[in-house]
Amino acid sequence: MSQGTLFIVSAPSGAGKTSLVRELIESLDGIQVSVSHTTRVKRDGEVDSVNYHFTTVADFEAMIKRGDFFEYAKVFDNYYGTSREAVQTLLKAGQDVILEIDWQGAQQVREQMPEAVSIFILPPSLGELEHRLANRGTDEHAVIARRMRDAVSEMSHFNEYDYLVINDDFTTAFQELQSLVISRRLTLTKVSERHAPLLDALLSQAPSVE
Ligand code: 5GP
Repeated sequence: MSQGTLFIVSAPSGAGKTSLVRELIESLDGIQVSVSHTTRVKRDGEVDSVNYHFTTVADFEAMIKRGDFFEYAKVFDNYYGTSREAVQTLLKAGQDVILEIDWQGAQQVREQMPEAVSIFILPPSLGELEHRLANRGTDEHAVIARRMRDAVSEMSHFNEYDYLVINDDFTTAFQELQSLVISRRLTLTKVSERHAPLLDALLSQAPSVE
């Protein structure tokens, strides 16, 4: 069976990454989002083992020691990490896998798996980003300013990625993201692996000599 492709998707908060990825996995078969471990507090509406595996710092650090993480990082004072075994199992089963992770995690994944495809999602402008961040339940100036600083810091790594998607119009950005996944599935290597019998059959007939 053909191994799945690993996609890394990073973005500053407010760029629309989570909604785009949700739409993407609903639109295609054979692709899943990896559920990360985190030590951050569960937000309203989040479900354990669906949005994240919510974990204590002690358990997370024990997992680090055991080498359980494919990558992990401290983001905004909390640990986040991707289970090595979960990702390997999905890829081996032929599933494409999306890691929604920050730039630090992306660097660690690229080192171990250079063939991973990395995508960075950008907002259309700083003004629009600020507007989206301000609409996240608080008007407190200091909180919004901190989110903007964090967002700009994440965006400063855009040039480490293979592809850039600018989320101005949602539908356009979604189609661009989807086309990246589909085009990856159509590479010579992937099609040859998936359709080996067909390719053999197509070339099996000896050309007739007139
Ligand atoms: P949030 O707490 O808002 O869900 O996520 C905060 C940040 O952590 C986002 O930039 C997100 O991409 C990143 N993140 C989520 N899961 C992981 C992970 O498993 N590894 C790394 N390195 N970053 C993650």
